[in-house]
Amino acid sequence: MNRSTPSKSAESRPATRTAGRRESAAARGQRTAAIVARLGRAYPDAECSLAFANPFQLLVATILSAQCTDKRVNMVTGGLFSRWPTPAALAAARPAELEAVIRSTGFYRAKAKNILGCCRALVDRHGGEVPDSLPDLVKLPGVGRKTANVVLGTAFGRAEGVVVDTHVGRISRRLGLTKQPDAVRAERDLVTVIPREHWIAYSHWLIDHGRAVCTARAPKCERCPLEDLCPKVGVKPKSRKKDRLP
Ligand code: SF4
Repeated sequence: MNRSTPSKSAESRPATRTAGRRESAAARGQRTAAIVARLGRAYPDAECSLAFANPFQLLVATILSAQCTDKRVNMVTGGLFSRWPTPAALAAARPAELEAVIRSTGFYRAKAKNILGCCRALVDRHGGEVPDSLPDLVKLPGVGRKTANVVLGTAFGRAEGVVVDTHVGRISRRLGLTKQPDAVRAERDLVTVIPREHWIAYSHWLIDHGRAVCTARAPKCERCPLEDLCPKVGVKPKSRKKDRLP
């Protein structure tokens, strides 16, 4: 994967709190640079947790990862790619057999339909290869902008956008880098504030951060390396026992 290395000078910049007042573009740029630097320091080994050996495998694994954990997907893809190792082989699979193999990932009928359609399109339109352009990828059945960005960034090392999954969207909103609940609109905001050389890593960092610290239900702000840089938009203060009436 493309590992970006944030500069130490950015990391040492002073923190800027934003809660309760409008943040200037300059202040946001400075704060974002510090966020990027600290994330890079906190998660130096962050990378895609889906197992894959080539762009085709990552494409299929990413389709399977919708509404499913990467761990579960990895339990399925080993057997899947042993049985159907190429787009041509998988395109010829019987739907019922593919559904049985991927059943545990959920939404298996829709996923099987998308994977079969995608593999047929790879064979018919791209000579059995995964294209390395965003316009070609998003024309494949079952491939949206997020899946295309995962494949481009992680398999081809091409930063064409920011992958906005549930962790990236949630944490970016808490950090005040976007207000958009919609992934495509959030990505539009993020590509204007995150330096391009960090687009790929930013998603990997936030996915690790979302699993370890900034979880959906109970973010651990008190031990977060971004605490003084984060306005914690939408995060409810923890109720403190000593404040409660007996
Ligand atoms: S300070 Fe809290 S809300 Fe902000 S990124 Fe850290 S854990 Fe998430």
